Amino acid sequence: MVGGLFKNMRQNLDFWRSNMYINDNVLQTAHEVDVVKVVSCLSTCIFPDKTTYPIDETMIHNGPPHDSNFGYAYAKRMIDVHNRAYFEKYDRRYTAVIPTNVFGPHDNFNIEDGHVLPGLIHKTYKAQTLHVWGSGRPLRQFIYSLDLARLFLWVLREYDEVDPIILSVGEEDEVSIKEAANVVVQALEFKGEVVYDTSKADGQFKKTASNTKLRKYLPEFTFTPFPEAIKKTCDWFVDNYDIARK
Ligand code: GDP
Repeated sequence: MVGGLFKNMRQNLDFWRSNMYINDNVLQTAHEVDVVKVVSCLSTCIFPDKTTYPIDETMIHNGPPHDSNFGYAYAKRMIDVHNRAYFEKYDRRYTAVIPTNVFGPHDNFNIEDGHVLPGLIHKTYKAQTLHVWGSGRPLRQFIYSLDLARLFLWVLREYDEVDPIILSVGEEDEVSIKEAANVVVQALEFKGEVVYDTSKADGQFKKTASNTKLRKYLPEFTFTPFPEAIKKTCDWFVDNYDIARK
């Protein structure tokens, strides 16, 4: 069960309970029917709030997550505990990946519940004035869903560790919400006014993740440039407006 910042803030209890049930049902059932590999999906928003940067895979449990999404964060952290325990007891190689903020075609473009990029794309497409929530200053590393899909297949086929791996663009590719909004505005050739609604939450200021471990395994992997990936996502949304999840 996933959602953007604002859905997390409204539903910490539901995020905690649903994800805990999903974790236990999926992993225990996989074990019982003898599935040899499971790749679960965590997120960089489960990392400690007070930390040093960049954050790496060894730091997941080093302190409380940001208050806004503690239900989701603690439930997702428990997958790492599950994986360790299945390995210890049954030698299962169940593992987890930690993607940064994902976007792309077929995303959830719901404005209230979705993540920032699909929300901004939907709002920009519809509005005369674009209301970006928060100050625009927080920083995020965005990953295009098709790049993430390629990395997922590599993890499934080649990655042999139980310990999780961060799937992210580099630290140098971190962008502010404001920069991201500007890329969406250009891709959709939006001519209206852009305003920042600072009565809305900023969430975690940043959660800069290190992709050093990924780069050790896959030094040559190339990510789709951010403006190109945004353009493809916007084109998909415009072409599929009737069927898009929103
Ligand atoms: P997060 O990365 O887990 O915090 O989740 P989001 O993908 O929801 O990103 C939240 C960040 O984007 C916060 O800094 C928000 O203030 C900002 N933001 C700006 N406009 C929007 C919007 O329309 N929807 C969402 N979800 N966030 C927005």
